[in-house]
Parts: sequence; structure tokens; C-alpha cells
Amino acid sequence: MITLSGKGVYGGIVIGRLCFYKRENNEIPKYTVKNVENELIRFESTLKKAISDLKNLYKTALKEIDKESAAIFEIHGMMLEDEDFNNEIIDTIKHERINAEYAIFSASVKFSNMFESMDDSYMQARGADIRDISNRLISILLGKSSKDISLEQGDIICADDLTPSEAMSLDRGKVSAFVTSAGSASSHTAILAKSMGIPAVIGVGDDLMTLTDGAEAIVDGFSGKVYISPDAETSARMKDKRNADLQRKALLEEYKGLENITLDGKRIELFANIQCLQELPSVTSNDAGGIGLFRSEFLYMDRKDFPTEDEQYEVYKKVLSHMESKKVIIRTLDIGADKQADYFMLDKEENPALGLRAIRICLTRPDIFRPQLRALLRASVHGNLGIMFPMISSVSELKKTLTIVDDVKRELTAKGIPFCTATELGIMIETPAAAIISDILAPLVDFFSIGTNDLTQYTLALDRQNRLLDRFFEPHHEAVLRLIELTVNNAHAHGKWVGICGELGADVELTERFLRMGIDELSVSPSFILPLRDKIRKTNLQKEKGIRK
Ligand code: PEP
Ligand code: MG
Repeated sequence: MITLSGKGVYGGIVIGRLCFYKRENNEIPKYTVKNVENELIRFESTLKKAISDLKNLYKTALKEIDKESAAIFEIHGMMLEDEDFNNEIIDTIKHERINAEYAIFSASVKFSNMFESMDDSYMQARGADIRDISNRLISILLGKSSKDISLEQGDIICADDLTPSEAMSLDRGKVSAFVTSAGSASSHTAILAKSMGIPAVIGVGDDLMTLTDGAEAIVDGFSGKVYISPDAETSARMKDKRNADLQRKALLEEYKGLENITLDGKRIELFANIQCLQELPSVTSNDAGGIGLFRSEFLYMDRKDFPTEDEQYEVYKKVLSHMESKKVIIRTLDIGADKQADYFMLDKEENPALGLRAIRICLTRPDIFRPQLRALLRASVHGNLGIMFPMISSVSELKKTLTIVDDVKRELTAKGIPFCTATELGIMIETPAAAIISDILAPLVDFFSIGTNDLTQYTLALDRQNRLLDRFFEPHHEAVLRLIELTVNNAHAHGKWVGICGELGADVELTERFLRMGIDELSVSPSFILPLRDKIRKTNLQKEKGIRK
């Protein structure tokens, strides 16, 4: 038996077989070519294949979707015949003696930047098309290497690390646990595992990668241990632990339908954090009072191009309709740092967590931000929507954001498109700056939601992605708790409600403190709602206050 130790990020005992995640190589190679003529032929034949693929896609889309949606393939086909674009690639291959993949990538950056700097929003949107057709050409040149893995029911997915979109691309019905050699406990992959209710152990070290598919293993998401080829004693112990866990989970079922109220009568809302539509059944089955954080950036990930306004509208509409009159807070795009999508073509940054991410991208890319706002506002008529902006750190950023929202509302009104004028607008408090000036921000919004994952990272100067820092990570650091309290006081002083949507909200050791602060809502992974309700219903703020005196 081999025992690996890491950090358990979601409790549960899983007995299964290891299955290693195989990854597509997305790097664009760059090398000097000896035979330029051959490279030009490589490019020309790739171009022909891409054009013919697009013609076929157009025909299929005409049959299976509709003319409007099919048109994009026709447009992309025409763009691939554009002489300026193709000559740019051919010239680069000829003069720089560079490989076709890299010449396409360079042309793509040049042309998409050119389109995106234009004033006209239609022309700006063509930047995304350039990236799409370039990606298509590059994928053909690199050959298809599928990242699909054939999973069997109960497989334990192993990898060096998994990005959130990779984790999401897996068949949830079949994955029973995640184990990674790297990764940190507060990374988005860890959050996703919790949200999917999948036991996970991360950061077990490089020995994991020396193992092979099919090995028998037991994952203990509570202790962070992974046992490979477990001996009889360990198997028996783990089976007992698993049965106890299943019994505890069954007991929690009894909390469904009950109020989130302390013994002395203090109420709080318990909402769910989600990233995709597949999680809606678990929002309902765990009896969430609403959705406090829908991480909309996941709509943009694991795909080759931006989702259209209509695609987004359909998703938001489904979430809102599913939740009926219950509150649904959708956070606008929070891409960047560890949540990447290649087609955004973001520059590599030294410090991505301190870089161009979230609202900073939205404010510099109206061609991305405005369609999302239009989709959200259009969907607002289908339920009880709140829109929330991530990573706000200054009044001017917030004012710029709200000006864009007003402008989009005017545009919709002018076109006679209905939207709910009462849609609440809020911000995430996830930078220390925002917490400190929350008294100035509060009058400008309807609510605050405290993102403790980033607030902790930025307050303690601890990169949440860096596994080496886990031992320095103090989740209950007084500095973070004081910033939370300051934010709550400032929100309430201005009559605004305030919630927590970071992972700290699910930490039952802090529930009493949050209740005392007067937090109005805790938004957590669906699987944490019933344990939190249990904790709240057993808390008596009066009594515990008395004891402390
Ligand atoms: C947070 O930072 O606490 C948060 C909820 O946002 P995310 O984890 O998606 O960055
Ligand atoms: Mg955050």
C-alpha cells in the first residue's frame, strides 16, 4: 500500500480506480523553418481544409439550428478567404522563416487588436472572429489530440493540476473523486470540487504522477489521504468511515424545509454558489433560499470563442426561471488569473492575480461587457435577478461600471426591449481597498457580497494558487475578519444588505461570529447549506453572549 498526503477540500470517502487526465497541448510552437516553400504549402492546405470544414458546419447548422446561427460559419469561411489576413501570414512565413502556427498567431493578434481598437461596436466584435478562425487553423496544423478520456462509473480523476474548465469538461455522473499532485486549497478547482460535491484531495505531490491508470485506491477527502492498493485493515477502516459519513449526510436531510434561525430567533439567508446549469438540481435538493453567486465566467471557459448574447440570455433565463421568485445573483465575467480562456488572448503576466482580470477586463473591453449586460438585463424579466461586479477596488471603477449599465439600459429602452428596472446592482468586496472604502461605495449600490477567497489573498498577500503557501494560510486571520465587520457596518449604516460568498461563509467555526456581525446572507456550495442550517439552528447568541461575559 502507498499512502499519499495532501489537502482534503471536500469530505467524503471514495473507493475506486485511478484514471489520469490527459491534456491537449495548447501551446503555440515557434521555430525557424528550413524549407519555406513546404511551410507555405502546409499553410495553404490547412486553409483549404478549414474553409471546407466551415462549409460543412454551415450546412449542418442550417439543418439542425437556424439560418441566423448558421451564418457565423459562412462569415468565418469568407474571412478565411480575406487576402490581407492571408498575405500577412504568408509574408511572415517568407520573411521571418517562421512556422505557420506562429505566423497565424501573430497575424491573429495584429488583426484582432486592429478591429478591437475601432469605434464601431460591430467592427470591434470582428476581433473575436479573427481569433476564432486563427484557432481553427492552428488546431488543424497541430493535429487533433483529444483530451477526452473514457471514464467508468466511480473513477478517481488524477492530474498534476486541473483548471476549472478541465474539471467541468468531465462527465460528472462518472467522476467520484479528484486527486491532484499540485494545486492549492483555495484555488478555483478546489472550489469547483466542493460545488460539485465531489470528494477531492489536492497537492499530494509528484509521486502521484508515477502511478498508472486502473490502480485501486481509496480517497479520504476528510483527512487528505489517498491510499493506493490499500491493505485489508485500511479498507475496513475506510468502509466504516464511509458508512458513518453517509449516515450523517442522511440525517441532514431532516433539515430540509426548515428555517435558518438561531435558538434565540436570529434569521439569516442561506444561498448557493454555482457555476453552471447542471448544478441547479443540487441547489434545489439542498434547499437553497436563492443563488448568491453564479460565476458567469464559466460560460466563457472551455470553448473556442465568446458566447453570444443570445446564448448567455438563454442560460440566465433558465437559472432565473428555475429559481422562480427566489433571488439569483449573477456575477459578471470574472476571467483572468487562474480562470483563463485562450481566445481572450490575454497577455502573459508576471502577477496575474494582480493583473488584468474581472471588472478590469470588462471596463477595457466593452465588446465583451455590453453583450453580457444586455443578456442579463433581458433575462431579468424571468425572475428575481441581482447583478454583481467582481474585483471593484475604487469609486471611479464602480462609477464607470454603473455608467455602462445605464447606457445599456437606455439602449434596450430605445429598442423597446423589456427588462426589470428593479434589478438590484451590487459589488463584490474582495479587495482590501473596497472593504476600507465600503462607506463610500455603499450609497452607490444595492448590496455587497464579500468574496473572502480573494479578500484573504489580497489582505494577507498570499497567492491562493500557490500550494507552497498553504501552511501560511490563516483562514481566520483577524485582519480579514475585521475587514468583513467593517464592510457589514458600512453596508448597514446605508441601509444595504450584505452577504458572504467566499469559502469562509461555509466555515461553521465562524458562523456564530458572522451571525453576531449581522451578516444578512451566506452563499455557499450547495452541499454546505444543510450543515450550516444545522449549525445555525443549534446556536443561541443570547446564551453564548451571557457565558462570555
Ligand atoms: C471570492 O473571491 O471569495 C469569490 C467568491 O470569488 P472567486 O472565488 O470566484 O474569485
Ligand atoms: Mg473572487
